[in-house]
Amino acid sequence: MTWMITGGAGFIGSHVVKALTEGGERVVVLDDLSTGDPARLPAGVPLERGSVLDRGLVDRVLREHDVRGIVHVAAKKQVGESVERPLHYYRENVTGLQTLLEAAADAGVSRFLFSSSAAVYGMPDVDLVTERTPCAPMSPYGETKLAGEWLVAAAGRAHGMATASLRYFNVAGAANAELGDPGVFNLVPMVFERLDRGRPPLIFGDDYATPDGTCVRDYIHVEDIASAHLAAARRLADDPTAALVLNIGRGEGVSVAEMVELIREVSGFTDAEVEVAPRRAGDPARVVASAELIRKELGWSARYDVRDMVASAWEGWRLRHPAPEH
Ligand code: UDP
Repeated sequence: MTWMITGGAGFIGSHVVKALTEGGERVVVLDDLSTGDPARLPAGVPLERGSVLDRGLVDRVLREHDVRGIVHVAAKKQVGESVERPLHYYRENVTGLQTLLEAAADAGVSRFLFSSSAAVYGMPDVDLVTERTPCAPMSPYGETKLAGEWLVAAAGRAHGMATASLRYFNVAGAANAELGDPGVFNLVPMVFERLDRGRPPLIFGDDYATPDGTCVRDYIHVEDIASAHLAAARRLADDPTAALVLNIGRGEGVSVAEMVELIREVSGFTDAEVEVAPRRAGDPARVVASAELIRKELGWSARYDVRDMVASAWEGWRLRHPAPEH
């Protein structure tokens, strides 16, 4: 059987492709290359260029590659942009998913894995977020992920697909420098960029009700995200009635101040000043996963720690942004 991985040429998708192919699975990638890059794909992995909104294309790819399972990673993922362009986000993330599910149901695809996000929880008021913690997304982005989970579950029940929605916490790191994150939208690359420009990294708020006053998150290595997909793919293959919703996290909180300190150390900018900036609208004080359910269901747990994430992300950053000559 073949797995179709949408968004497989992107940052997270290419790590999923790597994990699945190394795990012996056959894959085909569907990617519109809006943010993806074919150079991220291992040799021999077929790439079909186009959008999940193109029903004719999706039908052809499912048929020609004998696809029996889908890992749907392709999506728009910037929270701020989703506030400005909600209709675009709903179209890409929800209508795109609906189109894909319709094609999957018609083609008899029996397994569907969906990339969800901790953004579905919004501002959780608990120490560890379990999958039973109420969902209350704070942005159109988070809404599209929650609506996506509902679509996936309902389609799975009605059309006999085994399904899993995987809620990613804060993804960082890279398997190697070439697979590094090309975007500068999250804490780690944003700090790298400021340091490289000789500007102090910004900490958005230090008066939260957390031990050091800065926001606490659960950072997870992208290779761990990828290995969780392989574990979930195998589970769906063995269990045709699976309908899973799982956090992918480490269950360990790290504060922004701790992350910035680690980044200064790993990047060698140990003398750099740090600047406290105003709080960023909509930031929850603490979002840390309970990683119990995924351990129980898939026997999966994270292997890498935050230092691994920052060190591998830094290598990827340096490859894309060579150090200025002195
Ligand atoms: N953050 C920060 N400075 C930056 C970028 C991010 O203090 O330059 C903080 C942000 O306010 C949040 C945490 O780092 O508390 C993680 O932010 P990110 O955007 O990476 O992920 P989020 O948790 O918002 O999805």
